[in-house]
Amino acid sequence: MARTIEPDCRQCRREGCKLFLKGERCTTKKCAMERRPVIPGQHGNSRRRVTFSEYGSQLREKQKVKRMYGVLEKQFREYYEEAERMKGVTGENMLSLIERRLDNVVYRMGIGASRSQCRQIVNHGHITVNGKRVNIPSYLVKVGDVIAIKENKQELEGFKALKGLKIVMPKWLEFDTNTLTGKILALPKREDVDVDIKEQLIIELYSR
Ligand code: SF4
Repeated sequence: MARTIEPDCRQCRREGCKLFLKGERCTTKKCAMERRPVIPGQHGNSRRRVTFSEYGSQLREKQKVKRMYGVLEKQFREYYEEAERMKGVTGENMLSLIERRLDNVVYRMGIGASRSQCRQIVNHGHITVNGKRVNIPSYLVKVGDVIAIKENKQELEGFKALKGLKIVMPKWLEFDTNTLTGKILALPKREDVDVDIKEQLIIELYSR
């Protein structure tokens, strides 16, 4: 499976913001964006641009979102093309599609600490959708889908620790930490994506 090989913290430093790629570490003082928030490389400090050209800001916004969700260029563009074919606002459709990825849903439900960890959980076949094992991180969930941790994996340490926890999650999802089973209540809307994303810039870039 193709994935980016650039170290996580380096990606945050490149984008100049926290992308929360490393789980708990991201909220501690050990976070590289707290300790050394400069662009990677020998001339990091001097390369920090305060303003970008129009194209530059569009490109940086696209890279930021791609890195945040761990999606490569080809698939990211496919989300744009699919969003354009859908009714409604293309940027909002695109974000909704990316949010519906199974690895993101597992992350939003609080099953793993980061999207990359959740991608691994899915890859290893620990997740079922409507009772069937699904090991494709890019699988798009639908309203009514039941997402669960596979019964014979629920006793694994990481999953056992979830039992009884109170997890805050977006309102389009629910997850019962006693049964380790959740449900897709609705499709995600723009206001459900609580991160600072200027999706319009990405649409402008792709429609050039
Ligand atoms: Fe980014 Fe997390 Fe690394 Fe901080 S600790 S730089 S938020 S990946």
